[in-house]
Amino acid sequence: MKKQWITTALGATMVLAVQAQPKLNMDSLVKMAAKTEVWEPVPAKVTPSKTVGEAPSDAIVLYNGKDLSQWQNKKGGSPTWKIEKDGTLTVVKGTGDIVTKQGFGSCQLHIEWRSPAAIAGASQSRGNSGIFLMGRYELQVLDSYDNPTYVNGQAGSIYKQHIPLVNASRKPGEWQAYDIVFTAPTFFADGQLQTPARITVFHNGVLIQNNAEIKGNTEWIGPSSYKSHNSKEPLVIQDHGMDGGNPVSFRNIWIREL
Ligand code: MG
Repeated sequence: MKKQWITTALGATMVLAVQAQPKLNMDSLVKMAAKTEVWEPVPAKVTPSKTVGEAPSDAIVLYNGKDLSQWQNKKGGSPTWKIEKDGTLTVVKGTGDIVTKQGFGSCQLHIEWRSPAAIAGASQSRGNSGIFLMGRYELQVLDSYDNPTYVNGQAGSIYKQHIPLVNASRKPGEWQAYDIVFTAPTFFADGQLQTPARITVFHNGVLIQNNAEIKGNTEWIGPSSYKSHNSKEPLVIQDHGMDGGNPVSFRNIWIREL
């Protein structure tokens, strides 16, 4: 009796194993492959610009050379930075930072800038401005073409936090571009940090920050730390103000919310 049961069980197992072998014809391979295909959601269609660096169809244009209608002065009122005939926007020393009216969180940001052709000042006093993501995390703008300074404060640094991977600076007086991918930080309901901000930056097309973890608010003195804020905050461009070497110019600023 016992021997007969074992024989039956083994026989059944062998039959099952044979039946489980799929036929490896093309139809069955296609069906197997389809299980890992994703068809939805379909990515939105975006029309890229004909020229690299110009705004694609879904970007919010923050400055197109005509006016500062998307901006206000950090001190209040309208910005008084100079718009030149060719559309170049230039910092007017001491007038204050400019701030977007709209808030932004995670984003792709394109911004072109130019340090003054006539060199005045040195180190941090030569072409100093800055792009403050969410108004508090500074990507440094500085003339870093043969201009020694502390390296965690040179062009492309996350100021006092991350040294750029390389120095891709152009000469003073030449237009340069930052292309930024920024991931906003998140906070728990009690204000404690949940996930830190991250930033990737291309300087003139060269990778200089690779998914760097931001350590908190930019500080000139002392260590950085996070302070809870809204999920969207205005973008700020710095008027470094203090000295004469910083009339930095800007053009072609656009952003895509992520
Ligand atoms: Mg700065």
